[in-house]
Amino acid sequence: MKELVIKNGLLVSPANGYRRTRKDILVRNGRIAAVEDEIAWEGEAVDAAGCLVTPGFIDIHTHCYPKAFLGLSPDVLGIERGATAILDAGSSGADTYEDFRENYIKKSRTKVFTLLNVSKEGLLRGHELDSMEKLDEAALKAMVKKYPDEIVGLKVRASASVVGEMGLKPIEEAARIAKEIGKPLMVHVGNYPPALTEVLKLLDKKDIVTHAYHGKKGGILTDTGEIIPEALEARERGVLFDVGHGVASFSLRVFEKALAKGFDTDLISTDLHVENYEGPVYNLAAVVSKVTACGEPLEEAVHKCTCAPARHYGLADLGEIKPGYVADLNVLELAPCREQVQDSIGDTIELSEKLVIKKTIYSRGEQSEIFEQNP
Ligand SMILES: [Zn+2]
Repeated sequence: MKELVIKNGLLVSPANGYRRTRKDILVRNGRIAAVEDEIAWEGEAVDAAGCLVTPGFIDIHTHCYPKAFLGLSPDVLGIERGATAILDAGSSGADTYEDFRENYIKKSRTKVFTLLNVSKEGLLRGHELDSMEKLDEAALKAMVKKYPDEIVGLKVRASASVVGEMGLKPIEEAARIAKEIGKPLMVHVGNYPPALTEVLKLLDKKDIVTHAYHGKKGGILTDTGEIIPEALEARERGVLFDVGHGVASFSLRVFEKALAKGFDTDLISTDLHVENYEGPVYNLAAVVSKVTACGEPLEEAVHKCTCAPARHYGLADLGEIKPGYVADLNVLELAPCREQVQDSIGDTIELSEKLVIKKTIYSRGEQSEIFEQNP
């Protein structure tokens, strides 16, 4: 359809001044045409009375290249989970990106951007950086240069299972190359070596630490529950910290302690893949519900998976409710509940309310579609 009004919703988009603010939204030719108190309208409409309306979610950590380890198709992890734009976090590398692009990205309804793995094979097999031969700098740079708007950053995994005996070397190289090409590096942190304290020292402004609140040894907390100084210094330099929930990488207790110390997350992502998309991660709404149960205000949490990633990665006209922007939107219910939910290490928290996605409105060119979510 070309025209649509979303009526009576409570808009949540703090960057645009909306904190559960009642407004109508006019969508025309795939873009937001107007946001007003009341839009008189006879045509196609969605009644969002009693619901929240947010920008379409932007998930910066997914695995949506089905030929790679743990990958699922972009629409399963995107539109069907309320994320109208997603980033694939390193499933493809210089050798495989064009296959990913041709056979999956181009065919999906979800807008897909890529964090190219510094390993040329991406995540085809795992152990993607156990030899420096797998980091082909010239091929990596050439691929980023060929698709500068689609490849929005680089990805590297800094954990014992990936880099093997190589230790810090691949991360040093990835950080150097990211700086040279002017794209942010996303670093997966997990079991050491390499030590997080050493990895953090290599990162600079706009780089992202994903799985920042994992519960493994050697994380962002000291043994006495303080934030490690290297994390504070990294944040000072402009390094961002991201949830990246995943199957083994988000601890409610670590996140609660970090929040209490004022070390809130900058971005919220899922790390959705085959092993967690049917639980415990599900979708960004479920991750946001956990984060808010820990004490994060809902409006801030929504900002961190809509506007904040769009601006960080320069995703043009996405992530806001603003005339001229792409009409990608979610209609959600904030449902009161008493429900125990799990993190990725088996700890639980009781939700007193949870976000449930009802409809996802997404646009391709001048056409808009409504995807009815089926929770
Ligand atoms: Zn991941």
